[in-house]
Amino acid sequence: MHIPIQSETPKCQKSKIFEHARKSASDLPTFKCNACGSCCSHIRGIVPKEDLKFVKEHAFGKLPVIQLVPVEQMTFPLWDWEAKRFEEWQHDADVDARIKPLRAILDLNSNKAIILNYFMDGLTDACPFLKDSKCSIYHTKRAYVCRLFPFNRGPFMNSGGMNLKEGMFGECGAMEHILPQVPDDFDEIVRFLSEAFPDESFLNAVQNDIVVEWANKTIIGLMRKKIINPAMGKDYGFLLERIKGAEKIDFTDFLVESGNLTETEKKELINRFDSNADAEEKIRKYV
Ligand code: SF4
Ligand code: SF4
Repeated sequence: MHIPIQSETPKCQKSKIFEHARKSASDLPTFKCNACGSCCSHIRGIVPKEDLKFVKEHAFGKLPVIQLVPVEQMTFPLWDWEAKRFEEWQHDADVDARIKPLRAILDLNSNKAIILNYFMDGLTDACPFLKDSKCSIYHTKRAYVCRLFPFNRGPFMNSGGMNLKEGMFGECGAMEHILPQVPDDFDEIVRFLSEAFPDESFLNAVQNDIVVEWANKTIIGLMRKKIINPAMGKDYGFLLERIKGAEKIDFTDFLVESGNLTETEKKELINRFDSNADAEEKIRKYV
């Protein structure tokens, strides 16, 4: 989701990792978004097929995190702090992004619905911020899902025993010359992707996976310490009704409210995620 609003300074210039990688591999293929707009034009119901089965089987009440809308209605997930920014930017861009909760934990201790992700429930399949085939907030720190495409996820995410390369990329016309050249060996894949994606989409994909992992581990930690007691294994309709009537709180705000983070630590954490520092650290071992 790269559609530039104006001519774009290549993001590779910002990352030392990629500077290093390109010096040693100037003859390798390089991804270049052709600004076709396809990935921002059809954001509804897009779930990588290998994730679809898991979501349908487990996300509707069997796990602590409950999906609040059918897969066909959902668009891509925004982390709570990303949704807050989109709420602000929609006014600047004169857009009604129709931001709604996507996934929540119904905490029986606090009787609150803790919102983990939001989504944009636009009136069409296109992203509400897409205007005249251009992203109207391209100049901002957009959401991970905007910045990681053509990736669905990075190579470090456990792919459930599937071929590592399967499901790593979404459908993108600019990938044709890259895909056949992705190596098979894990270390080589990481090196190759570092070099072939100077636009930082690879870095964003790896960081987003790290954030997913952080969220999962944090939820498990809160459960172990009995800070939260998520409702699960109950009738999905019942859970939805309870969530609808419950007081809502964003996940990172809940971490502050429950004393797990100070407000300053929360800001530092989000800054760290925004800077892709964890992803840089992870990838650095391979390049
Ligand atoms: S589908 Fe690919 S080429 Fe088209 S805008 Fe998205 S990232 Fe760019
Ligand atoms: S916010 Fe911009 S980059 Fe992200 S999906 Fe919408 S139009 Fe695409």
